[in-house]
Amino acid sequence: MIDVLVSGGTVVDGTGAAPYRADVGIVGDRVVAVRPRLAAPAATVIDATGLVVTPGLIDPHSHTDWSVLGNRDAHSTIRQGVTTEVVGNCGLTYAPLTDLTAAAAGAALAAFGHTGDVSWRSFGELVDRVHLHDGGTAQNLAWFVGHTALRDAAGVSGSTVTGEQLGTMRRLLGDALDAGALGMSTGLEYGAGRDALTPELTDLASVLARHGGIYASHVRNRDAGLAAAVDEFFRVTRPHGLVAQLSHLNVRYGTGAPPDGWQRAVERLHAERAAGLDVLADMTPYPDGIGLAAGLLPGWLLEDGAAAAAARLGDPAVRRRVRADSDRYWRFVHRGEWDRVVLATSPATPDLEGLSFPEIAARGGRDEWDCFLDVLEAAGPDLPAVQLVGRLFTEKHVAEAVAHPLFCLGVDGFSSRTDGPLAARTRHPLFFSGHTHYLAHHVLRRGTLGLTEAVHKMTAMVADHFGLAGRGRLAEGAWADVAVLDTTMLARQETFRLPDGYAAGVPYVIVNGALVVDRGEHRGVRAGRFLPRST
Ligand SMILES: [Zn+2]
Repeated sequence: MIDVLVSGGTVVDGTGAAPYRADVGIVGDRVVAVRPRLAAPAATVIDATGLVVTPGLIDPHSHTDWSVLGNRDAHSTIRQGVTTEVVGNCGLTYAPLTDLTAAAAGAALAAFGHTGDVSWRSFGELVDRVHLHDGGTAQNLAWFVGHTALRDAAGVSGSTVTGEQLGTMRRLLGDALDAGALGMSTGLEYGAGRDALTPELTDLASVLARHGGIYASHVRNRDAGLAAAVDEFFRVTRPHGLVAQLSHLNVRYGTGAPPDGWQRAVERLHAERAAGLDVLADMTPYPDGIGLAAGLLPGWLLEDGAAAAAARLGDPAVRRRVRADSDRYWRFVHRGEWDRVVLATSPATPDLEGLSFPEIAARGGRDEWDCFLDVLEAAGPDLPAVQLVGRLFTEKHVAEAVAHPLFCLGVDGFSSRTDGPLAARTRHPLFFSGHTHYLAHHVLRRGTLGLTEAVHKMTAMVADHFGLAGRGRLAEGAWADVAVLDTTMLARQETFRLPDGYAAGVPYVIVNGALVVDRGEHRGVRAGRFLPRST
């Protein structure tokens, strides 16, 4: 007896093999058969005639750990066929915490719809809170612990780290790895991560090496300084032979990056792989991306913490210094291109969320810089929670990265929903159509990539690299994570606009054998699991 039979579809099995007609049989949480014809009786039959059956999609670069407590049903991503997300990226996780950092974490998480308390302190306690308590999750999550969180929890500020602080960071990292973290992520372009020097990272890399942990990095610079930033990435990972991921390795336009900067970075990636290092990169599917407002601010403003920085913005002289000293991160802002920036999340001024800075300026009768600094001043201690969406990349560059064999798809967003606080803060298609856009726009309409290869980059390529055993493939014995795609509907979908409701085109989604999305409707089933690092 089969529990779920997905019958008559075209199977794209995730390995990159040519598509073939097959039935997929599921018993419990496992795939038991992928065969041309499966004649066994089944409790549930899904007619996939004319549809494409793939392994559940896996996002290697997600920030859903920020929104999961307010969105355990993973509304916007599960309907796109995403059954597993690798979270905790860019150094920014809400664990470990201390009594001192918990308040700011609570405010930031409330902006993402979390209504409960922040009672956890360790990384393991957060994972338990998400996965074991309060109802679990619809999707599977594999977690990085964030380096910035380790720094904050150890009380580090600036570039100097005492021996005692480094010892605390090493211990907290070891604790997270013991609790099942995949590894450590860094975000070296903003926040406390920006102040970290390379020796601190190489030291923590030795802890990763001892535990078999992975290193994922939002590198220090992706414009004029890209080559040096990529070099630092390999100085951290190569001595230990760490499995490694170069996060969203895209180059922004209008920032002073050399024209061949991206190609040179990719050549380095090739060379390091040829020399035996297990490293891959990911790219985002849209020309737009999310970012932290604080990333634009100079270090001297932030050195006494967020609340002090916000307060100092009340002084016109400080504002003048900040404007003059802003050539970092989204460098096109320093060059006056505010039309490329939308205010996405601003708990203190929610009425401005979703507006571009020229729109905010027109409302307030002040220039964009003043409006931006007004928002940050109003944020007070919650300044780090202010988020932007920017037009970062050219469509040509995105296509180039999409087509590259060493790049998997990482949407670099977080799962959202159409109601509650998250809805107001995610008025961009990347939160609702990141994966369907990749398929609809880059694969089915533009043909930048074939469907088989695209599915491979969204499934087995990710599972193999991150050690997610038994995921990412449709094969006998694999975990029963399945997406059923209607490619005709996907190809017709307008994915550059925020959809009216949720993405369509993925009528069925199965997580660990449980039917979560049925004929496009979310059944409210939370069958997702915590995926600990495999040892
Ligand atoms: Zn990042």
